[in-house]
Amino acid sequence: MHEILDRLPPGSRVLDLGSQGGSFNASDYPELVSIAVDIISPSDSFSLRPRGPFHFVRADASFLPFGSRTFDAIVLNHSLEHFERLKPALQEIGRVVRPDGAIYVAVPDAATFSDRLYRKVFRGRGGHVNLFASGPELAETLSWYFGLPLVGSRTLCASLTFLNRKARDPGPGSRRIPFSRLPEPLLLCLTALLRVADCRFGTRLSVYGWALYFGNLKQRVESTVRPNICVRCGQAHPADWLLRIGAAQRRRWLLPRYKCPACGASNFFTPDQLSPDQFTEDHDPPTAA
Ligand SMILES: [Zn+2]
Repeated sequence: MHEILDRLPPGSRVLDLGSQGGSFNASDYPELVSIAVDIISPSDSFSLRPRGPFHFVRADASFLPFGSRTFDAIVLNHSLEHFERLKPALQEIGRVVRPDGAIYVAVPDAATFSDRLYRKVFRGRGGHVNLFASGPELAETLSWYFGLPLVGSRTLCASLTFLNRKARDPGPGSRRIPFSRLPEPLLLCLTALLRVADCRFGTRLSVYGWALYFGNLKQRVESTVRPNICVRCGQAHPADWLLRIGAAQRRRWLLPRYKCPACGASNFFTPDQLSPDQFTEDHDPPTAA
């Protein structure tokens, strides 16, 4: 989403919809007007406290209390899969975004191990109610509702953070998980095994889903797959950046590790991977910066 946020002019309005605690730290973008919207109020849960100077509005995504063409950018970060009334919500998003605006979407691929496991664990507990099995079909549908072309995409990897005992409470439903979640070292080993299996056998066990970019994007989206997703906080970090800042440590006989710059958790380090982009043929070239 930072490909969009980084290039917005000062004063731009950003809607972070279904954001829980905020999809990004609004303190990093003090020149933007960031509005977080969720059906659950921040006062209902510690995990929903907005990060940074967000304006919070409690509202249903299918009845957004904003005028038409209000927002320069909309962030839908792991939220579409939770919307009970998806089509009215998509209509509302298409209504409130500006015709020259941009939209970021991150959703799970319903065919993946990660999403199947999530739906099993959170069944009846506020889990995923919308299943997306085809990235290209989803992109076409969203483009139609938003009135904006698809201009970029990336495959997202899973970290199974929702199973981590040390992870921040991921939402009200997590309190009703019928087990106390897993120790972080065990989860680290599991995610490493999934990545190794993908590399060796061409499986998609460590894949989460897709990031899709629509509309006025002034920065090209790298289709590189970034497997370094923190097992505790869920943040993705480019491998070359982790090496550049010295967070990654190569060890001679052991698997290389990195310390998450966001939360300090120790993770296994994996090089970024080039991946065939299933959306590439549909992309319009990004607008010149
Ligand atoms: Zn982290």
